[in-house]
Amino acid sequence: MIFLKTLTVTGILLIYSCQAMSKEKIAIIGAGAAGIATTIFLSELDNKIVIFEKNNEIGGNAREIEINNEYGKKIKIDLGPQYFSKKGWGNYVGFLKYHNQFNKKDYYSFKPSIVVYNSQVEAAPPLFVSPKVDRYSIKWSTKTKDSTARGLEMFKFLSKSYKFNKNSKKYPSNLTFQSFLDSNNFDSKYLEEFINPIAAAVTNFEIKDVPNSHMESISDYISPSHPLSNSKYYVAKNGIATALKNIFRNYRYRFPNLLLKKNSEVVDIKTKENGRFEITYNQLNNHFVESFDRIIFAIPPYAIKKIINNDSRLRNLKRYLEVMPYKQAKVIIHNEHEHFISREYKRFLNIGVDGSGDYFISMQLNRINKDFTNYIKSWDLSEYEYSILKSSGKIKHESTFWHPLISKEFRANVHYLKRHGQSLGKIHFAGGWTQRSETQETAILSGFHVLTNIDNKHSNIWKKRIPSLSKVNIEL
Ligand SMILES: Cc1cc2nc3c(=O)[nH]c(=O)nc-3n(C[C@H](O)[C@H](O)[C@H](O)COP(=O)(O)OP(=O)(O)OC[C@H]3O[C@@H](n4cnc5c(N)ncnc54)[C@H](O)[C@@H]3O)c2cc1C
Repeated sequence: MIFLKTLTVTGILLIYSCQAMSKEKIAIIGAGAAGIATTIFLSELDNKIVIFEKNNEIGGNAREIEINNEYGKKIKIDLGPQYFSKKGWGNYVGFLKYHNQFNKKDYYSFKPSIVVYNSQVEAAPPLFVSPKVDRYSIKWSTKTKDSTARGLEMFKFLSKSYKFNKNSKKYPSNLTFQSFLDSNNFDSKYLEEFINPIAAAVTNFEIKDVPNSHMESISDYISPSHPLSNSKYYVAKNGIATALKNIFRNYRYRFPNLLLKKNSEVVDIKTKENGRFEITYNQLNNHFVESFDRIIFAIPPYAIKKIINNDSRLRNLKRYLEVMPYKQAKVIIHNEHEHFISREYKRFLNIGVDGSGDYFISMQLNRINKDFTNYIKSWDLSEYEYSILKSSGKIKHESTFWHPLISKEFRANVHYLKRHGQSLGKIHFAGGWTQRSETQETAILSGFHVLTNIDNKHSNIWKKRIPSLSKVNIEL
């Protein structure tokens, strides 16, 4: 039996929920892909689950905006996630399939094609165009003399990364990108020209930080399949947020034990002598306090750091959280074609890189859905590129994101953090950042890791529903 007692102390509303039953009350903080997946994986445990989300929508990074296109038609654009391949994102696809959210018609499929430019502003010949590969030949195109050597070096890079990706357990767990390249004798000339910029672009690292990045976090993005295999990538025509909302709506209807609190920002957590946790959250200018048996953080490390204030037992977590860096990126939807997309190379993903190592990434949205007409999504812009866009007056939307810099040290800290959380009792961490790389796949997977750490029986049930989950190696 649950009874609630509400008190007002110095203007703060306190809600104590006292439980006279053995079932746990679980708090999931954050309703991005990881928080939603965790909720769904735990939904059948028959515990009361409260999900706190500071925004008025779920989805987190996987969020959509709505704008009018050139013909006045309303279109939705996903500001965050865009592409995945069935090979590297098998659990994510399995998760969508199981929930009837993977309809091939909802996706645009394309062959990976990346163009690297050495000039930010002119429609100059690209430095490198990723090889178009079929079973019998590799074709690449650049207008410079060196094109064959570049193509071969890129091919070598893709094949070696694929080999690594397939057998990563055989390599040292903390292998950095630089040590991977060194052990394979890559030509430093090409590293600067396009290998490092591509690695920086897929991980959102700055080029100077690429050498220390974790090899697994790069190979996950670029090499899920062999470069000679006929692999396809997919882009959702509507944002992933739509799929997540559909799935979650269904679960809330089926499981009254799930409670979503939107516009509810968790601001403080305290541990109690009885092993429980007291969460303080702000909702529409009111403060509330609520007690829980178990806490699942589905928010990034910098957000966790902000809500662990003075609790002496939790203070130690800060040691690891302090050194888990994130990078800010601006995502801009615009239709300034002159400077950002070469007319000649109508490819999906363009990476512009200049001599100083600044780069930007642009995606032609009309390659995904013709409703997007002339829009381009660009990110990782330098001040200069941003000023070009600003002065063009063609910006439709701009937004800010944070992306983890998953280095060797970052991975080590995730490990200590999880261990420390476990030693404190019922504390867990979910989120793309808790895995090898920050993707939709790893965000979903992190929810499954939490379930497996809590309840093996239900973990096995999910393995039957989504067979790829049975191949997952569960860390703490
Ligand atoms: C520009 C960009 C492009 C990307 N492209 C791809 C791609 O092509 N393919 C791919 O697979 N992945 C891609 N990703 C990565 C993917 O978007 C993320 O890995 C995934 O969405 C992370 O989900 P998450 O739930 O871990 O975190 P988040 O989405 O960050 O969710 C955290 C949630 O917690 C909430 N929150 C934070 N603090 C609090 C608090 N104190 N109280 C309550 N709520 C709080 C936030 O509002 C948010 O809703 C991209 C990301 C970006 C930014």
